[in-house]
Amino acid sequence: MQVMLLGLPGAGKGTQAERITQTFGIPHISTGDMFRAAIAAGTPLGLQVQSYLKSGRLVPDGVTIAVVRERLLEPDASRGFLLDGFPRTLPQAEALDALLNDLGKALDVVLYIHVPQEVLLARLTGRRVCKTCGATYHVHFQPPAVEGVCDKCQGELYQRPDDTEEAVSTRLEQYRQTEPLVRYYQERNLLRQVDGQRTIEDVWADVRGILEKIQR
Ligand SMILES: [Zn+2]
Repeated sequence: MQVMLLGLPGAGKGTQAERITQTFGIPHISTGDMFRAAIAAGTPLGLQVQSYLKSGRLVPDGVTIAVVRERLLEPDASRGFLLDGFPRTLPQAEALDALLNDLGKALDVVLYIHVPQEVLLARLTGRRVCKTCGATYHVHFQPPAVEGVCDKCQGELYQRPDDTEEAVSTRLEQYRQTEPLVRYYQERNLLRQVDGQRTIEDVWADVRGILEKIQR
């Protein structure tokens, strides 16, 4: 089962990814994890990745795709994989196609967890965190009993700098690159859109249904 997960940050991809890997026994392959593993292994490729990341530069596509290739050749990926966070751009998607073709593999499905951008912004900017115990709240979806005060320890709630509207907009802008990818996989009849504006359980029911059909 060779699956790709697409979705904007805050769409609840992480939770679904966890359930997919547990239920279907396929490894979760994300760019961040792959980079960390390559660096830790100290391979020539890992050293290359490290030098880019250290200097704050983007890892070039050629290097990234080589890292993906190494990862897909690991024994645990022989029965399938869940690709998450890669590709980010059209050229990367094309390079991935060529790579999979080369390895005699092909994607079965691209799951797109869709949540409108305005909704994502409201989700992210409403998040509040306790300064003392780290408990998380949401001003709309999970408010504390007393505004600005932690239910568990009476600590002060604050908004992380990452969650301010400006920071979030910047992040979403970067991820807006997802749109061409959505079209790309749509044209190849691989895209399955799942409505992410529901409970985790409802989203999971759809995701599992789609994957079970593929497994058969
Ligand atoms: Zn607290």
